[in-house]
Amino acid sequence: MEEKYNKILTKIEEADGIIIGASNGLSISEGIHIFAENEDFLEIFGDFRENYGFRSIIQGCFFPFPSEEEKWAFFSRMYNYFLYRDEASPVMKNLHELVKDKNFFVVTSNIDDHFSQAGFPMERLFEIEGNCRNLQCSHGCCDQIYPGDEVLSKMAEQQENGKVPLDLIPTCPNCGGPMQVHIEVDRNFLRDESWQRSYQAYQDFIENAYGKKLVLLELGVGARNQLIKAPLMKLTNAEIHATYITLNKGRELYIPDAIAAKSIGIDGDIAKVLQQLVEMK
Ligand SMILES: [Zn+2]
Repeated sequence: MEEKYNKILTKIEEADGIIIGASNGLSISEGIHIFAENEDFLEIFGDFRENYGFRSIIQGCFFPFPSEEEKWAFFSRMYNYFLYRDEASPVMKNLHELVKDKNFFVVTSNIDDHFSQAGFPMERLFEIEGNCRNLQCSHGCCDQIYPGDEVLSKMAEQQENGKVPLDLIPTCPNCGGPMQVHIEVDRNFLRDESWQRSYQAYQDFIENAYGKKLVLLELGVGARNQLIKAPLMKLTNAEIHATYITLNKGRELYIPDAIAAKSIGIDGDIAKVLQQLVEMK
């Protein structure tokens, strides 16, 4: 096992570029599980479960709330839950420590803002499905994303009986219509200018890495994931000097035969693996 860890550290050290691909499994290793009806969910979102019957944060994200007061009670509480800690988790700190001096780029479907929180700069971050801190017009009347921290914190704080005060409910500065959190829960999701810029930065990073020593570091991305995993595997296959490193648990750890010779997989708790790597660095 130690040999594997050393190999990963050497590959990272020697890399000209590192692409970090992260999904739900990374959040789970931090203790946040948006698909689970776990202790946190019951404690923090139990009243929603009782009132509407949904059994996980992700189900709440897709739930058709009967009113804006109830919708924002949920989304502001989710915001608060993701970001209530003042500092990044040990998992994210270790990940940052591992790559901070390298030329890296992050692509993630996580919406919890934990990469920014850990010090990963926005210009090296592509959040494909948005971020729970930002707001957009539900009608998509304009190509604009708004920072939501202030109003989301207030709504999280001042809600009662699963409803936020009417005067706190955000409305679109442009058309006056309803707003929603800028995460991909429906077809309204705006791929605005900032989203396009991040997408382009990701494409540019890949292009610049052409022919160089590239490490694709995949963290907690499911075996059949098409959004992040499939493109990373394809890139590994296409790039002569690429190394594919994947950290996941059990059956979710998947390396196809075509890229097996260029790949290193570790089956285990991502939190522990990252800790170990940082200790050995
Ligand atoms: Zn609008």
